[in-house]
Amino acid sequence: MATKLYINGEWVEATGGTFETHNPATEELIAEVGKASTTDLDAAVEAARGAFENPEWREMLPVQRARLLFRFADTIEAHHEELAQLETADQGQPIGISRMVSTTGAAEHFRYYAGWVTKLEGRTSPISYPNTHHYTRREPLGVCGLITPWNFPLMILAWKLAPALATGNTVIIKPASVTPMTAIRLVEIADEVGFPAGVINLITGPGSIGAAMVEHKGIDKISFTGSTEVGQSIVRASADSLKRVTLELGGKAPSIIARDADVDAAVAGNLMGGLLNSGQVCAAYTRFYVDKKREDEFLTKFAAGIEAMKIGPGHDETTQLGPLVSADHLAHVERLVAAGRAEGAELVTGGERAADTGHFYRPTLFSGVRDEMTLATEEVFGPVLSVLSYDDGDDLAELINRANDTEYGLSSTVWTKDMSVAHRLANGIRAGAVFVNMPPITDMAAPWGGFKASGWGNEMGPYALDAYTEIKGVWMHYGN
Ligand code: NAD
Repeated sequence: MATKLYINGEWVEATGGTFETHNPATEELIAEVGKASTTDLDAAVEAARGAFENPEWREMLPVQRARLLFRFADTIEAHHEELAQLETADQGQPIGISRMVSTTGAAEHFRYYAGWVTKLEGRTSPISYPNTHHYTRREPLGVCGLITPWNFPLMILAWKLAPALATGNTVIIKPASVTPMTAIRLVEIADEVGFPAGVINLITGPGSIGAAMVEHKGIDKISFTGSTEVGQSIVRASADSLKRVTLELGGKAPSIIARDADVDAAVAGNLMGGLLNSGQVCAAYTRFYVDKKREDEFLTKFAAGIEAMKIGPGHDETTQLGPLVSADHLAHVERLVAAGRAEGAELVTGGERAADTGHFYRPTLFSGVRDEMTLATEEVFGPVLSVLSYDDGDDLAELINRANDTEYGLSSTVWTKDMSVAHRLANGIRAGAVFVNMPPITDMAAPWGGFKASGWGNEMGPYALDAYTEIKGVWMHYGN
């Protein structure tokens, strides 16, 4: 029996048919999943609109809403192991990542935003108009469509759902069709927690139902994480309705290994930064600008580290690299590796599939990559790392230009012991995050967002509150 949609507090059958989701390590069927039609979408929008207007949610006291979100966090934690196993089965990520990053991260997001519910203050404004008081209110946007990708399905949903609910919106969730399972389970848990009917709705289906959400007049906001190409189509499609849009898109992060870097630390940090979740990370380090004088040492140690990594199914506790998420994505990675070879990059290690069953791909290192090559410009979103060297001495201007020579601007990193180099690069790099001497991480208290074609707006921290609220100014004249 296929999984159902969750609309207005009820689990209902999808009317658009079904599709399958598979375990990427074994290629076995996990579930038949209900495929939402536009009729189902209309019902979800109506439910979300009704719940938004309903005083039960709209006028819920902040302490009550906070309590619901705290309870949600606790209940996610109570299902911690089960959610982690499910994420690994559907997405492929090693179980340690599912536990530490995905499941714990999701619970902590709800706890963090639960804390904000009672702190959503307005301001009084010192206006220069006689006998008039002006104050601001932070108000919810209304019905928010949350469209999520397949690389961290549970955690990225939490990045959106927690602040959207904390600020009093209602939502329609649409997970990626290759990894819908933890979103479905999370909504079952929300049902247990007791949100009013219609506050949270879930529809499952392909990109076309996401596109229908973007065009739907009854949806006030789209929060999207996914590819830059789809992000661009969302901006075009939302022009008529002028709905609010937040976009977290692709990346092509540079990792700069300076002449004075601790190469052993850089190798360890870049193995994680480049290969976490098999490189299926928007912030993954992919373009390694290594000072010419350290290049041989870095390449030798990096290649040895890569070759020592254990590839296997995510459920095996000793696995460091799981499979890629799907056959389609594996084919995309293979295409880009073939382009790298054809354009003359030198393959140091990897460059082939790692098993006949499951979408496993060997971690791959190229050297001699040049700035204009496909490997240096296109997002691979897989375990493919490219070394480009630099030889500028102390002149960082040219290096900064090369690091910035990309349409993306999400993440970046610098490996150096010299604070002056670290600050000059941190200031010069055009990206939403610069990590110094560390792999990329996210934290619910720190903003996350892209410059340039990597996105619009920020998630996490107090910044996400702006993404789910409008500011209303109230002018009150009290006499002559
Ligand atoms: P994708 O763009 O193919 O799909 C993302 C979601 O959008 C899915 O739910 C999909 O069904 C839906 N979708 C597809 N077409 C749509 C359309 N026309 N209108 C509305 N929705 C549509 O992305 P993906 O392949 O799932 O994820 C990988 C991409 O996500 C990479 O580019 C990666 O860099 C990016 N990403 C970015 C961040 C970030 O924080 N910036 C985080 C994770 C992933």
